[in-house]
Amino acid sequence: MVGSLLRDIHNIAKGMPDVSIMEVCGGHTNVIMRYGIRSLLPKNIKLISGPGCPVCVTSQKDIDSVVALALSGVPIATYGDMFRVPGSNMSLEDVKVNGTKIFEVLSTTDVLDLAKEHKDIVFFGIGFETTVPMTAYLLEKNICVYSTHKLMIPPMKALLKDEIKIDGFIDPGHVSTIIGYNVWDELNVPQAISGFSPKQIFESVYEILKMIKSGQKSVVNCYDSVVTCDGNIKANDLINKTMKVSDAEWRGIGVIPNSGLEPKDDECNAKIKYQEILKNVKSEKDNSACRCSEILKGLIEPKDCKLFGNVCTSSAPKGACMVSDEGTCSIAYRYS
Ligand code: SF4
Repeated sequence: MVGSLLRDIHNIAKGMPDVSIMEVCGGHTNVIMRYGIRSLLPKNIKLISGPGCPVCVTSQKDIDSVVALALSGVPIATYGDMFRVPGSNMSLEDVKVNGTKIFEVLSTTDVLDLAKEHKDIVFFGIGFETTVPMTAYLLEKNICVYSTHKLMIPPMKALLKDEIKIDGFIDPGHVSTIIGYNVWDELNVPQAISGFSPKQIFESVYEILKMIKSGQKSVVNCYDSVVTCDGNIKANDLINKTMKVSDAEWRGIGVIPNSGLEPKDDECNAKIKYQEILKNVKSEKDNSACRCSEILKGLIEPKDCKLFGNVCTSSAPKGACMVSDEGTCSIAYRYS
């Protein structure tokens, strides 16, 4: 089956100009690199990785702010991936070593359990639409949140106006389970929503190539076992009830209007509740030798960074893209 898909891809690509397809999900990047999918495609069909790792796009200022909260004695709960992301001077892991109250959690249940003992706990919320419903659930339970949650469509729109050539997108499967497939139409480029097997990636590439060849600009749902037209209505209702759209800062990209989510209730918004602590936070510029900003926009590949694999490794990351399992540099390091 995969063999015949590959043959179809090679046949349709014959005579086509160079085509660049971006995947914006770290899970897809992982499958693509793990199975050597790029090397199996025709030379004129290029897959490029975009800003699909939520850890990687969390700004240094947000890390510095949560570090400042923890150092001020505010109990913090967050997912394990966030601990090693470098801030200006310290990561959350450094802070934990300093004896502050910072807890690694796997689920909202863990946060609610912690809240029984630490009434003023702040949940450091991170992720795209996939993880937002869990944070919305905590907000409904009146847990205070420092939100770095981000929306996927605004940066994709911004990238389409940027210097990089993008002919189509492989849309993120997990995000689409929440937001559905109808909403992707607004990007007005060929797209396919993909699952996470090599076969589903090949199917998506083939569907995108068919659209490019016929001049169509729509979205094909290649992950219809879980992605529906309107997404998860219950989750979206909960998000709309507890959160509002805001501007957000993306590491390496800058502020993108209407690309983030903040708590609706100021009492549950750590950025407002602890503004006296946060107003003194000063962030330095990202490590100048680290080229994460270009990696996140798909302008270069990890091997183009001179720190990759020698100074910067997954055990000693120098930039955010090397920290998370979904970071492009980390994935390239794992499979190169
Ligand atoms: Fe940054 Fe390391 Fe990636 Fe280079 S290899 S861009 S230093 S994360």
